[in-house]
Amino acid sequence: MRALVIGAGIGGMSAGIALDRQDVEVELVEIDPLWRVYGAGITIAGATLRALDALGVYEAVQREGYVGNGIRVCSVGGDRLWDVPTPMPEDSGVEGCGGILRPVLHRILSRKVLSAGIPVRLGVSVDSFQQDSEGVDVIFSDGSQGRFDLVVGADGIYSRTRQQIFPDAPLPEYTGQSVWRILTDRPTDVNCRHYFLGGPAKVGFTPVSATQMYLFVAERTQREVRNADELHDDLGRLLADYGGIVAEIRDAVTPDTEIVFRPLEIFRLPAPWHVGRIVLIGDAAHPTTPQLASGAGIAVEDALVLSEEVARYDSVPEALTAFLLRREERCRFVVESSIEIGRLEQAGASPEEQTAIAAAALAKLAEPI
Ligand SMILES: Cc1cc2nc3c(=O)[nH]c(=O)nc-3n(C[C@H](O)[C@H](O)[C@H](O)COP(=O)(O)OP(=O)(O)OC[C@H]3O[C@@H](n4cnc5c(N)ncnc54)[C@H](O)[C@@H]3O)c2cc1C
Repeated sequence: MRALVIGAGIGGMSAGIALDRQDVEVELVEIDPLWRVYGAGITIAGATLRALDALGVYEAVQREGYVGNGIRVCSVGGDRLWDVPTPMPEDSGVEGCGGILRPVLHRILSRKVLSAGIPVRLGVSVDSFQQDSEGVDVIFSDGSQGRFDLVVGADGIYSRTRQQIFPDAPLPEYTGQSVWRILTDRPTDVNCRHYFLGGPAKVGFTPVSATQMYLFVAERTQREVRNADELHDDLGRLLADYGGIVAEIRDAVTPDTEIVFRPLEIFRLPAPWHVGRIVLIGDAAHPTTPQLASGAGIAVEDALVLSEEVARYDSVPEALTAFLLRREERCRFVVESSIEIGRLEQAGASPEEQTAIAAAALAKLAEPI
């Protein structure tokens, strides 16, 4: 069995590792010649930790990131309101949530890929596919060619693979919210994720290492683009009413502070996410907003389930049908729950309403996949 994975992000690297473990001869192509990832923090739900554990990288995430439990919900003034538990089943062997810098997670996964001897061709993409009943002929952007039993499109929300196999697929659309993120020192008494609810935006932070955490602000705004020189003042205005740690972080922002500003976009691709032997995983198939911190997790889960079904069936198309049966409902649940939480945030719903739906969704996601 030979497989090609297009895109070496979180989902693509996970697919490479998981397929290699099933004795599939797998290779990755990544369009970025430098294999970069932008430098923001990422929150990891308990189910994501379980998936990373199944990939064999949980201990590295524990060591190089943060793992812990629970979300502390606070008022705009910074006072504790209540804690939302994030339990995982006892036999899962992982904690309930975590956080890590994207470049650190990238390093952990890429180390695993390279140490398994999986080839990764950088600066290369796919120009065209031609499939028949026995396999897929691929012409790469560097002019080389290959034939594969399985092709996995893990090339993110703007997936070219998706455009190639589903030319009529919907395009990503702005949700009305944008997210601001800054990396900051982690005070010694901060030992869990925090939300600050009831204000003009949803604000929170997640530890990402023993000494660092990132602050995020989900803002309802029609402005999808900002000038770099406006970012610091705009963030200051957005956080003007906040007290406690958020005020301290706000007051410490200088023109040199790196701010990552990203509009949130999604599309809904109806199933199936495969044509013949070519399948989409991760954001290429089901991008989500970050409200449940599970976009990366469902990409890793896709990779694990795909490799299991490929090992179970002799026929690739049958394996892909079985893959979709296990993935469609769960991924749709993550996307729809995240969108609903975003809608409540934008409507100014009460902190109780916002956290109740997040707690219920996280509990459901803790169920086995
Ligand atoms: C603002 C924001 C905050 C988020 N926060 C969280 C969070 O806290 N927790 C969480 O779990 N998720 C979060 N997410 C979602 C998460 O980032 C994604 O779900 C996750 O990165 C999906 O992984 P992926 O591998 O499918 O895609 P990507 O991470 O986008 O990787 C795609 C890879 O494919 C490569 N590529 C693209 N085109 C081609 C091509 N034509 N040929 C070859 N290679 C190609 C890219 O260079 C990249 O390396 C957030 C998303 C946003 C926008």
